[in-house]
Amino acid sequence: MSDPSARELLRQRLDSVESRIRAACGRAGRPRADVTLIAVTKTISAATAQVLPELGLLDLGESRPQELWTKAAALPATVRWHMIGHMQRNKIERTLPLTQLIHSVDSIRLLVAVEAAAAQRGQAVDVLLEVNASGEASKHGFAPADVQPLTEQLRALAWVRVRGLMTMAAPADEPEQCRPTFAALRQLRDRLHADLPAPHHVTHLSMGMSDDFEIAIEEGSTLIRLGSVLFQGL
Ligand SMILES: *Cc1c(COP(=O)(O)O)cnc(C)c1O
Repeated sequence: MSDPSARELLRQRLDSVESRIRAACGRAGRPRADVTLIAVTKTISAATAQVLPELGLLDLGESRPQELWTKAAALPATVRWHMIGHMQRNKIERTLPLTQLIHSVDSIRLLVAVEAAAAQRGQAVDVLLEVNASGEASKHGFAPADVQPLTEQLRALAWVRVRGLMTMAAPADEPEQCRPTFAALRQLRDRLHADLPAPHHVTHLSMGMSDDFEIAIEEGSTLIRLGSVLFQGL
C-alpha cells in the first residue's frame, strides 16, 4: 500500500481498536496479553495487507483457503495465518503448512480428514472446534449439545490438538445481545477442558468480531477476529 493516507487511517483505527480492547480487558480484570487481535484480511488486497506486519499486526485471518494461500505467498513468513472459514477437505493439504491455527473445524468429517493429513505430514495441528452457538441454519459448526459427546473421539486423535472453541454470534441490534452466546461457549470450553487430557489443551475462545468484540472480551475471548472495524473502505 503506497497511499500514505490509507496507511495513516489504518494506524488510527488500530489505535482506537487497541484502546477499546484495553478498556474491555480492564472491565473484565483480564491482562491485555490474554487477548490476541486477529486482523481479518478477506476484504482487502494482498498489497494493502502488506502494511499490517509493519504496523505490528502479525496474526492475520482469512475465511477462504485460496485467499489465504495467495496472501501467505505475498506476505512475510513472520505472519501467523488463521484459517477462520469453512474449509472443504480437498483444501486441507495445501492449507496446513501455511496455517498457525484452524478455527473452523465444523464437522467430524473434516476433523478426521485433518487428522489424516497431519499424520501424513508427520506434524501436529492445532485446531478449534466451531460451534453453532446461535443455532442459525445458515451457520456451520457443531451444535452445542454435540460437543461433549465428541470427547471420546477427540481423545483418540494422535495429530490433531484441540485448543479451544470458536463461534459467531447471531446478528444483533445491540452487542449486549451476544453476551449469552459468548458465555455459553465459555462454559462449553470449560467442560471440554476438564474432560480432555493433554496433548489437547482446550483454553482458547475465538469469539468477537467488529460489532461485538468488547462483549466477547468481557466473556473470556482469547482470540478476536476483526475485519470491518479496521478495513472498511480500504
Ligand atoms: C469476516 C469474518 C470476521 C470479521 O468480521 P467483521 O464483522 O468484519 O469484523 C470474523 N470471523 C469470521 C469467521 C469472518 O468470516
